[in-house]
Order: sequence, then C-alpha cells, then structure tokens
Amino acid sequence: MTYKNKFSLTFILLFVVFGVLKLQAQTILIDPGHGGKDDGAKAFQAFVNKKGKLEKKTHFEKDLVLELSKRISKKLKEKNYRVFMTRSFDRTVSLEKRAAIAERVNADLFISIHANASYYKTSGGFETYYLNNKSNQAIKKVEEVENKGLEGEDSVVNQILIDLVVNRTVESSKALASSIHGKLKDFLGTSLKMKDRGIKPGLFFVLALSKRPGVLLEMGFMSNPKELRKISSSTFQESYSSAVVKGIELYFKVNKKETAF
Ligand SMILES: [Zn+2]
Repeated sequence: MTYKNKFSLTFILLFVVFGVLKLQAQTILIDPGHGGKDDGAKAFQAFVNKKGKLEKKTHFEKDLVLELSKRISKKLKEKNYRVFMTRSFDRTVSLEKRAAIAERVNADLFISIHANASYYKTSGGFETYYLNNKSNQAIKKVEEVENKGLEGEDSVVNQILIDLVVNRTVESSKALASSIHGKLKDFLGTSLKMKDRGIKPGLFFVLALSKRPGVLLEMGFMSNPKELRKISSSTFQESYSSAVVKGIELYFKVNKKETAF
C-alpha cells in the first residue's frame, strides 16, 4: 500500500469512527429555570464584609440556577455528550419555547434546574421531581411556582397530553430521577450535610411539554439563610454538578440508548 493510500484509508476510518460516535452521542438539554422578567425565588442576605461593614445582597433563583446549569453543561461536554441549554444568559424564555428547543435539538433527556423557597426559614434540603399526574397536596405549592411562565392566557396544557406523556416517559424519568438523586445523596448528604427530601412525582408543565424523559431538580432552599450561603458557594455548585453528571452517566449505562444500528 502506498503512503498516499495509507493516509486516505486512515482518514476514511477516522471519518467513519467520528461519524458513528456522533450518531451515538446522547443529547442532553439543560434548562435553567426562570430568567429575564421572571426572577424565580428571591432571597436577601446581610453579611459583614472584609472591611467590617454590613453588606446586603439580593440573590435571584434565575442567577443561581444559570450558574449551576453552566457547570453541569461544561462537565457533560467534557464527557462527550451533545449538550444544549434553553438559555445561556439572563433572558425570558416561556415554557413552550423551552419545549420547542427540546424538539429542535432532539434531546434524549431534559433536565430542569431550580431552587426552592418556603415561608419557613428552617426548611431545607434537595429534592428531585419527575413528571407524574399523581402528586399530593404538599407538592402543589412547588408546582404552582415552577409552572409560571406559560405564554398568554390561552395556553393549554391539557390533561390528554399530560396523560400521554406520563404513559410514555414515566418509567425512564423515574429511572433518571433515581440515578441522579442517588448521586446527589452521595455528594451532598455526607460532605455538605444537606437534607435529603427524596424523589417525588410532580405535575410540571415544562416536563410535560418537553415530551421526553426528564427531571426537575430543586437544588436547595434560598429562604433558609444557612442553606442559601451553602448553595451559592462554588464548593456546593461543583459537588452538585458532578453528582448530576455521574447520575446521567449511570442512567445511560443502565438504560442503553436505542440506535439505528
Ligand atoms: Zn424555580
């Protein structure tokens, strides 16, 4: 074989290998909740700065979740996943638009990132939701907050659509929730001493509209001053994003993606 032929063969082989890898790469859509006109939850923090002066800062859920989403995306890209975000800066994105992006990029998984708030300052911990139409009264409040942001009054997320999506995705979404939540427990429960609030079913429109396996993650409580300090730290954000990536990897290991091959 001539040098030129060898070179061509190597080139063709590389082309085929990369082509197959690209076809098999799973696509993950990370959805930082809220944004733009929609701040999400808000929390005020007063602290003494290095100069000994009292400083006040307002934290917005939309900023916290964007920062965390960027870390998750970066880590997933390093693992060779195809990764997209529904927003990569502070802008308003309706729930329908988020779902349309999932359709456009042909996402295999939809991961929505949020932070919790409660009237009770002592409430704390992380929780993982998957789409189901059988949620209890306690979850209604979280649903109410996270379901804001549909376009216009006449937006209809009808029961038939929800039932269809639940039937088609509930098993995969539950498996994804359990893989991610298990890793969150390992990463946050021990070293960061955060309360495990469990895996819960919830009726989240953004998950229903996206029509694919997905979870909605509530990273922690902004209304709890101690926890707010924790979840806005880079130590927490690093641990949390690593746990989510490990959870996704575990999900794909157990639930192999079906390909045309
Ligand atoms: Zn939220």
